[in-house]
Amino acid sequence: MAYPEPLENLVAAFELFPGIGRRSAERLAFHVLRDPAARELARAIDRAVEGTRRCGVCCNISETDPCSICSDPTRDGGLVCVVEEPRHVEAIERSNAFRGRYHVLLGAFHPADGTEAEHLTVDKLVQRVRRGGLREVILGTDPDAEGEATARLILDAIEAAGDRSLVITRLARGLPAGSAIEYLHRGVLEDALAERRPVRRR
Ligand code: ZN
Repeated sequence: MAYPEPLENLVAAFELFPGIGRRSAERLAFHVLRDPAARELARAIDRAVEGTRRCGVCCNISETDPCSICSDPTRDGGLVCVVEEPRHVEAIERSNAFRGRYHVLLGAFHPADGTEAEHLTVDKLVQRVRRGGLREVILGTDPDAEGEATARLILDAIEAAGDRSLVITRLARGLPAGSAIEYLHRGVLEDALAERRPVRRR
């Protein structure tokens, strides 16, 4: 027996979320129907979508464009740390170890999962490099297989932009392999930033 159409639509909407299969989607949908407080979720989703935008400079999710970090004159505009996700910006900001700016890729290069280079904000980063004014780009992607592949992709794209004076560095190898930036202890992140190494260029 099929669910009533509005319920079926709700289940289908939950199924669009990453990692949510049919069974979980059904459980969540029934939870929403049982618990009136869950309607607050719908309002929160509306507010989040309407109240946020993409920063036109760093591609981070922000209330304003440009975001508060890109428009902060006390931040070092010549130093840009490239990260995969907005939550990685939050992690590095919490460490208090970085006073430059960011570039958020909005994903990692993972063709097997359907994430190709064109799904990431690589073009925007190359535009930033071409505009000039950057001194150093830190490849701050995760120290796992996708993060390394992403770092290589970024390196190739920046190299092709042809700014020979630009220094390109990678977070120090002391990072536990396979770990996600967001779960790192503050001190580990601080060390990884402080001991970053120039990457070999062609
Ligand atoms: Zn920004």
